Amino acid sequence: MPSALRTFLPLALLALAAASHAKTEDVISLALPIRCQPGVNCFVQNYLDHDTSEKARDFRCGARTYNGHDGTDIRIRNLEIQRQGVEVLAAAPGRVVGMRNDMEDVSVRIVGKAAVAGKECGNGAVIEHDGGWRTQYCHMAKGSVRIKPGDRIATEQPIGLVGLSGDTEFFHLHFTVRYRGKAVDPFAYGASEDSCGGGRSLWAAALVNQMQYRPREIIDFGFTGINPTMDLVESGKAASIAVMPNSDALVAYVRTIGLQTGDQQFLSVQGPDGAPFAAYNPAALDADKAQFLISTGRKRTEPAWSAGIYTATYRVMRDGTEVLRKTFDVETGAR
Ligand SMILES: [Zn+2]
Repeated sequence: MPSALRTFLPLALLALAAASHAKTEDVISLALPIRCQPGVNCFVQNYLDHDTSEKARDFRCGARTYNGHDGTDIRIRNLEIQRQGVEVLAAAPGRVVGMRNDMEDVSVRIVGKAAVAGKECGNGAVIEHDGGWRTQYCHMAKGSVRIKPGDRIATEQPIGLVGLSGDTEFFHLHFTVRYRGKAVDPFAYGASEDSCGGGRSLWAAALVNQMQYRPREIIDFGFTGINPTMDLVESGKAASIAVMPNSDALVAYVRTIGLQTGDQQFLSVQGPDGAPFAAYNPAALDADKAQFLISTGRKRTEPAWSAGIYTATYRVMRDGTEVLRKTFDVETGAR
């Protein structure tokens, strides 16, 4: 009989259950607010700024933030992917208390800061959760926001699509968590002012691996048949122009975020015969780089590229230690 069983439950166990229940209610648990795989096809570009002066540092005392940044920026790779539609999701259940949906998707580099003054979030939404918590979602695509104030929202319910509205110059979701009106860091809630890595994560337990801190990260890599500029990589064109036997160029490229002053990069390509095909070893960086594009290759002078597999190796060294490495290849021509 269930009722009989219940009377035998030890009192101490009941008390423990009640205590842990109260604790999980105090602190919000966050689902990923965007439909993608962090570290695979989306990347944390900027964390919260934990420095109260005009300087900036993230929760690990790294430079992956900028002065006054009050949220987490999760970027997607390029325009092609944005056009396919990347969903922004509610991080926790709650009620919608604000939204905007009519701003253009245009880089602030083009329209200027004045055009987005007071509307820096762009197309966005604010959701109120139990216990004094709120989450805010910014820079969504015009017309994509599909919730309205008053709506009840479930965890991971789609809110809208990643866009380029408000004060932004790259495709990303800006996600702010507030507790009783104050922005808090979901990676380091309750961290003391001077700690590096203190506080606790607000991310759901299942996200711990995906949302681990990566000081440097490769966000794009591949071979392309054109000379890849940052604009061509950001638009997705570099990735979509494959190496063909008669391509004008045969180039390997890597785009990295979070490179630091003093980092030394090496990018080389081996031809099908195993001989060196191209290499580029720029000088050690003289400044931290929010993002960096490196490429090496050749322009075609023969009628066609030698058929076979070209292999690229990218390495980042720091103080004699390899801190990043990627090997990738492409096959071209009939064999
Ligand atoms: Zn941001």
